[in-house]
Amino acid sequence: MENHAVLVDLSKCIGCRGCQVACKQWQDLPGLKTQNTGSYQNPPRRNAKTYMLIEFHELEKANQVQWVFAKRQCMHCNEPACASACTVGALIKREDGPVVYDTEKCIGCRYCMYACPFGVPMFEWDKEFSLVSKCNFCVDRLDSGEQPSCTKTCPPGALKYGTREAMLDVAYNRIYTNPGKYIKHVYGEREVGGTSWLYISSVPFEDLGFPKLPERSDVELSHTVMHLTPTIAGGMALALSGLYWVINRRRQAEKLAAESTKESHDAK
Ligand code: SF4
Ligand code: SF4
Ligand code: SF4
Repeated sequence: MENHAVLVDLSKCIGCRGCQVACKQWQDLPGLKTQNTGSYQNPPRRNAKTYMLIEFHELEKANQVQWVFAKRQCMHCNEPACASACTVGALIKREDGPVVYDTEKCIGCRYCMYACPFGVPMFEWDKEFSLVSKCNFCVDRLDSGEQPSCTKTCPPGALKYGTREAMLDVAYNRIYTNPGKYIKHVYGEREVGGTSWLYISSVPFEDLGFPKLPERSDVELSHTVMHLTPTIAGGMALALSGLYWVINRRRQAEKLAAESTKESHDAK
């Protein structure tokens, strides 16, 4: 089976957020109240109900302001640290590219959140029995021979889906046939062992907050920590669950106190 990828050409993105809406629609995720992030209205960050986000960057170069929009979601790593950290096999890398998540297996320990070098898995803080969530590469669409909802939607063609090999060819072809337009770096080709989402850009990736990562993945480290030291790992899970329980209880108490204050105020 061929490994598939998406090429994101940041120089083509116009920030329309069609992909963001398509993702919400296909994944049946609720809309959230937006906030002004710079001069751009958007949810402030990715969260359990927003698998992907268009980030807005205002950069200044040679006294000229440049706007860059960057689509961010799970990178679907070739050697995913999240999957390696997961002790119950709830995250799996498929041969065709996607890193998929099984809610039935997940125990909500959040190891994946700490292991991911891109800070991708998000926790459902507002639920009683919380799990994590992330982009699943629209696997249901891929399984029926379609491309992801976001890549299908993009009006200027900033997102391109195909085999990873073909996407790398397209990326290098654009870089070398447009001298001076792109920086000579395909982000995701080698970072942490390579990813299934690849990026090209006209500005350095570090200016856009993309983490500078080694070519080697942390998979071995995650695996060792989480699987060969069950006592430590179990202790961490217990501590985190306890912390979450305390935070949740405090939130419920604050909510009840606020409701009772409102009731007594209304009764006056
Ligand atoms: S970006 Fe993070 S969540 Fe996505 S596959 Fe890589 S390690 Fe896992
Ligand atoms: S691949 Fe699917 S789930 Fe992932 S960002 Fe695109 S639309 Fe959303
Ligand atoms: S649909 Fe395409 S152009 Fe619009 S925000 Fe998404 S990536 Fe950018």
